[in-house]
Parts: sequence; structure tokens; C-alpha cells
Amino acid sequence: MSSPLIVKSVVEIGCCKVCQSEATLYGVTDFNTACHSQLPNRYVFPLTGVAIYYHQCQSCGLVYTHAFDDWTPSDFAQHVYNDGYAEFDPEYAIVRPRRNRDLVLQLFERFLGKKMLDYGGGTGTFARLMREVGMDMVAWDPFVSGEYPELNSYEFMTSFEVFEHTPDPHKTLAEVSGFLKKGGVFFFSTGTTDEVSHLGMNDWYIAPRNGHITIHSEASLDALFKAHGFQITHLNRWSHVAMKMVA
Ligand SMILES: [Zn+2]
Repeated sequence: MSSPLIVKSVVEIGCCKVCQSEATLYGVTDFNTACHSQLPNRYVFPLTGVAIYYHQCQSCGLVYTHAFDDWTPSDFAQHVYNDGYAEFDPEYAIVRPRRNRDLVLQLFERFLGKKMLDYGGGTGTFARLMREVGMDMVAWDPFVSGEYPELNSYEFMTSFEVFEHTPDPHKTLAEVSGFLKKGGVFFFSTGTTDEVSHLGMNDWYIAPRNGHITIHSEASLDALFKAHGFQITHLNRWSHVAMKMVA
């Protein structure tokens, strides 16, 4: 059944979703604002008239919106991860998973033979590509029905372009952590704002139509992962490695 495009209105700004510090309004854009490096600009799709407000934490720098806090998975499936999603994110299907596999094989050869889980990988393309080269990897995505993975049993986990999509960063990381063994390593990608903070809302990564609703800084990732007992290292603007230090 289809539901109209309704987002939570912003009456109170509230506090940061990661560190609970004070936040202020950061900017506003139409729901259909998209992101892709090949697009001539970010407003090539028809405007919806639905305004999405973003806030920024004054302490850790997290940029986020409350607009989708009340959405159910079926709301996201209907309005964001629908048949048109690939049009807004054309590398999603195969180009990015293949590139990610090459990167993981290069960086994490030592996990060969270990149990691996890819979290949030849609229909599981990345895990399938890993299995094709002999890796023991399964996939699980909260938006895709499938067998729930065993808790505390994976030594290596990946997650590509997931953390900018969650309306609840603590809930998402708690779920990831639940699958990972103590001492396990989590390699994930999400774009951080530090190098582009001068762009404000002109940062192409802030794009509701692509589901980019929680944009991290290095400090907000540090605060989030520390709160869940991880040690985190930023490899670059896009890639991060975290080790689970507590059970
Ligand atoms: Zn914060």
C-alpha cells in the first residue's frame, strides 16, 4: 500500500543523536535533492515541496535530520529504496561492490578463512563477490528479509555506505556490535565532513533522496564508536576501521 510523503516537522531542534550536546539548525533542502558525481547538479529531479531540515551538533559536528525519525522500513522502501533508487545512485548495483571487494582483499588479507559478515549490503552483492574468491562471508541487511545472523560470532565485518542512511546511529552501531566477536574488526565506509565543512549544505553528500540523512564528522564517529567500546581509525575521508574492545 502506498503512503504519502510525510516527514516529521521540526518544532524543537533537540540534542545531538550521537553525543547529546546542543545542536543548531544547519540548512534545508528539498526531499528530492540527489547526489552523484556524474550529475550536472543536485536538483535535476522534480522538486517535491517537502522541506528536509538538517541540524548540526555544536560539539561533535554531526549533521543530521529528524525528518525520518518516525519512518517505518516500508516508508523507506516506498520513498527512498524504491525502483528509482538506482537512478539516483547508479553505482549501487555492481560498480561499488566490485571496487569494495578489491579494497578489502588488499587491506584485510589476514582475515582469509575467518567468518565474515557484510552488514547493510542490500541484496548481498558484495558478500557474493567475496564468496566467489573463497571468502566465508554472508550478508545481512535490516531492510531485506533473511536469516538473522548469529550474535557474537564474526571476526570481520564490513558495511559500505550505511551509517549515513540510519536515522538512529546508536541503534545501528549496537546492532553491528552485537554480531561482532570481541577483538573483531569492522571496516566501513561513510563520507565525513571535515574536509568539506566550508561547503555547508552545498556538500553533495547531503542528499535526502539518496537516504543520506546522518552525515558524520571524524569527531562524531569517534564519539559514537567510543560509546560502544570500539577503537576507531580513519583511513581517509571515506574509509574507517574500528576494533571491538569489549564483549
Ligand atoms: Zn554530537
